[in-house]
This record gives sequence, C-alpha cells and structure tokens, in this order.
Amino acid sequence: MAGLEIVHYGNPILRKKCEPVKDTLTIESIIDDMFDSMYEAEGIGLAANQVGLDMNLFIIDVTHTEEAEDTHIFINGTIVATDGDDKVFQEGCLSMPGIALDVIRPEKVTLKYQGIDGEWHEKEFEGLLGRAIQHEMDHLNGIFIIDRVGEVEKIKYQTELKEMEKNSNKRINSKSEKRFVL
Ligand SMILES: [Zn+2]
Repeated sequence: MAGLEIVHYGNPILRKKCEPVKDTLTIESIIDDMFDSMYEAEGIGLAANQVGLDMNLFIIDVTHTEEAEDTHIFINGTIVATDGDDKVFQEGCLSMPGIALDVIRPEKVTLKYQGIDGEWHEKEFEGLLGRAIQHEMDHLNGIFIIDRVGEVEKIKYQTELKEMEKNSNKRINSKSEKRFVL
C-alpha cells in the first residue's frame, strides 16, 4: 500500500480552491495512491487536497450500494446545476475525524468533469453518489461540512476543531463507525 497521508482540518491546503489538472494522463499513479489511502481510512470518497495535493480531482467508491458497480474518478469538476428537494443526511469527513454532522444539500447535482482519458462529461447524479460528489466538490473549493451547519452545531465541536487545528499535520487515529466518511 502506497497510500498518501490524509491531512486534517487546520491544514491550509484544505481551505484553498484547487488548481485544474492539466494532463489527465499523468495522474494515474496518484489516483491509485488515493484509492489506497481512501480504503485504508475506510472512506467512500476522497479529494486530492485531502492528501495534500493541489489538484481538482476526487474519487468515490459507492460499490457497496446498488448505485454503482464501479469506482468513480472525477477530474476538473464543476457543479453546473443542482435540483430536487433539500435533504438532510449525516456526513463524516476523513479530514475531520470523529465529527459527524447533519448536512443539508440538494438531492441532485449536475457535474461537468473529465475522465482519466481526458474526455469531458456532463451528468446528473443523485443518491449517495450525488451527495458524495457535493461533499468532495466542497473540499476542492476549500469548504468543510462544518461550514454547512449552524452556529449551535459548530459550537458543539469547538474543542475538537481547535485540537485538530493544533495537530493538523499529525495523524489522528479515529475509530469512527460512521459508514459515510469522505
Ligand atoms: Zn470530507
């Protein structure tokens, strides 16, 4: 396993809008390493800046559901539209170990993105995949789940967040039982 280390809340790269990937063909080994890191951390999605890389790139694996038989790679993604009702769903985050928050997001999202072959796609996603795409696109724009909840929720996790900021370059072990972590 050549997994890359996952960085946590407090690391400045997680507050940055990530740069576009210029050549999709050069990032195959990075993507492999990202999958290793994601599986090792038992997540279902991972954005490049969560492993310290300033690139508009994220991966998702929801093959444990009925939604997908294959893993997903999204390069140079932009959200072009959202649709459907707002839904509440509890999300965890590999860059915020031990924190799970009820996040409101639209049911459907249309993403424009490139595949590993460089080809452009524009597609609407929903369900767990649509939710995960919105979480990862937030990461690539420097946004955390904590930014998507009210003050009361934020205050609840103040101590944990401060601690993470202090130790943002150290690895924090979490025995999280959340199934939705990305
Ligand atoms: Zn996350």
